[in-house]
Amino acid sequence: MVSDYGGQDHDKAGEIATQLLKRVKDRVKPGVKLIDIAAWVEEETTAMGGQPAFPCSVAVNDYAAHYAPLFGDESVIPANSMVKVDLGVHINGYICDCATTLNFNDKLAYLERASTDALKAAVDSIRAGATISEIGRNVHESIRKYNANPIFNLSGHTMSPYTVHAGLSILNHDNPSTAMLEEGMVVALEPFTTNGKGYVSDHGNPGIYAISEVRNVRNPVGRKILTRMFGERKTLPFAERWLHSIEGSRLALSSAIRELVSAGILDSYPPLRENSGGMVSQHECTVLVEKNGCHFIGGYEV
Ligand code: MN
Ligand code: MN
Repeated sequence: MVSDYGGQDHDKAGEIATQLLKRVKDRVKPGVKLIDIAAWVEEETTAMGGQPAFPCSVAVNDYAAHYAPLFGDESVIPANSMVKVDLGVHINGYICDCATTLNFNDKLAYLERASTDALKAAVDSIRAGATISEIGRNVHESIRKYNANPIFNLSGHTMSPYTVHAGLSILNHDNPSTAMLEEGMVVALEPFTTNGKGYVSDHGNPGIYAISEVRNVRNPVGRKILTRMFGERKTLPFAERWLHSIEGSRLALSSAIRELVSAGILDSYPPLRENSGGMVSQHECTVLVEKNGCHFIGGYEV
């Protein structure tokens, strides 16, 4: 039996994440800066006794995920928008990954209902021995009832200590995979729904990075970034925004980051936008796979 579950640490990270997902609703309103929402989530995570597992993403409308506002980002929540807040909390590396959608457009309410229903279909499908095919079929069927599409190239995922994506993808659509969940796996379930075609791709400058390999670098700013981030984060993702306390010159910082990325030392995660401009809704929670079902660790409760 695998065991990626961290017991009390994991449940506490889950409890903090669940509470934050509820509390952030009061902060997300048209006119509010995205950066203020993300910074609030990250500060509260620490104040409540956890650590951010990755930078908070505030993704608007056709942006599905990975929108961590850049340093100095002035963008605000637009009127009539659909906003996904995706946050992660960890304690000693035990991660709860979760998300909710705040919708300000009545015409899109069905997409929000579709992603909550789809999350319920996913949770109800979880047990040791469930195949990726069976889970994907149940989620996809539930989304079809709303005449919506899943995002075909975004999926849930297993997690292990200090690792957000541990290898197995939990697809949100009909698929032939015979891979199975095992007792003791920790999985993030995150069906996305859209009125677009259902495919995302990179769009815009990355606000999220992670160390993929620690190597010596000559650039002194690059060296400072690696020392500080590996010390604080190990291989967990961090925000571009967080690096401005390490180096005050924006030019020196951006060229150091560029160098680290092209040397293969940092991975970058740009925002993901739905290709056809479709609106996107997402709900996510983290569960522990058990013999006959699952234990809810934290996140959006269905
Ligand atoms: Mn997430
Ligand atoms: Mn996730």
